[in-house]
Amino acid sequence: MTSPAPVSVSIDAVELAQALIRRPSVTPADAGAMDTLQRQLEGLGFTCRRMKFGEIENLYARRGTSRPNLCFAGHTDVVPVGDDAAWTSDPFEARIKDGVLFGRGAVDMKSAIAAFVAAVAKIPEHPGSISFLITGDEEGVAEDGTVKVVEALAAEGEIIDHCIVGEPTSANLLGDMVKIGRRGSINAWITVEGRQGHVAYPHRAANPVPVLVDILSALKARVLDEGYTGFQPSNLEITTIDVGNTATNVIPASAKARVNIRFNPAHKGKDLADWIEAECAKAAEGFDGTASALCKISGEAFLTEPGDFTDVIVAAVTDATGRAPELSTTGGTSDARFIRALCPVVEFGLVGSTMHQVDERVPVEEVRQLADAYEALINRYFAAFA
Ligand SMILES: [Zn+2]
Repeated sequence: MTSPAPVSVSIDAVELAQALIRRPSVTPADAGAMDTLQRQLEGLGFTCRRMKFGEIENLYARRGTSRPNLCFAGHTDVVPVGDDAAWTSDPFEARIKDGVLFGRGAVDMKSAIAAFVAAVAKIPEHPGSISFLITGDEEGVAEDGTVKVVEALAAEGEIIDHCIVGEPTSANLLGDMVKIGRRGSINAWITVEGRQGHVAYPHRAANPVPVLVDILSALKARVLDEGYTGFQPSNLEITTIDVGNTATNVIPASAKARVNIRFNPAHKGKDLADWIEAECAKAAEGFDGTASALCKISGEAFLTEPGDFTDVIVAAVTDATGRAPELSTTGGTSDARFIRALCPVVEFGLVGSTMHQVDERVPVEEVRQLADAYEALINRYFAAFA
């Protein structure tokens, strides 16, 4: 039995983006967003696998069985709308006004998913495989999303050769920036416990505040590095100091602070956590109390070195937008940090200026242009790697 020759299907990126936005998938809710996407992909011949972890819907879809496997990764979940009344129109109505699509997820990043689906629809035949790795948990704690899917796929021996993540990476104009790496991030909750007492009788108390001040000064005094190829210098910020003492004549029992470090590949999260803990121990020497730090690594720094894969993306973006994108490592963390464990990752998507804001929006023309760029990317990718 022969299967019918594949034909190109027309999927309108803007209409699909609207259909996805109309599913109010605020993390961890899915609200039918994954089903909407899955139906489209099944129609395009993809084998779809739902991978549910905890309450989170994830989807891995693949068309083709051979290598190279080019994967598009993204998320269907969105951040809360914030002040509902401040929106020009209902955030889940997906209204188009004067050529601009409004809605939560319009930029980050339902339109990018729709654009990639529309691009794939135009390429019914290709060597190798195309896959989608889509999570419903990127904007939340990100514990049951991409990280778990990547672990499961790796355990099965699934091979992804290269990955493009559809986060909104453009800075001012579509195509002016792609991200080839991200800094790592670590948060530390520092607690110093002493003993409460009267300020006039300090020998009967143990004041935690000077100990906390010593810890923070030591942390802030260290120059972490002078930068790393393609990266800004690592930076530590003290984000809060809390004692909450309302009395003028009382030495408080405890003092707390929190710091965040954004670090380049010159550091590993674990080493920074060890250092923070060591500074706490040092400051607590001779103190009649305790100083400790609870460190949580949100993500390690990673870099996809410029080369064949980034060349494909730069050329495709230039084809569609007329702009040669800057290769950047700025900005916050994204799920690319988990996928980097499998293969080289580059992120490219819409202009991010209104993401997470009231009236998140994108000109519909840019959604179509993004679909053109993704189409050029897929074609150039298989020409270069298949
Ligand atoms: Zn996003």
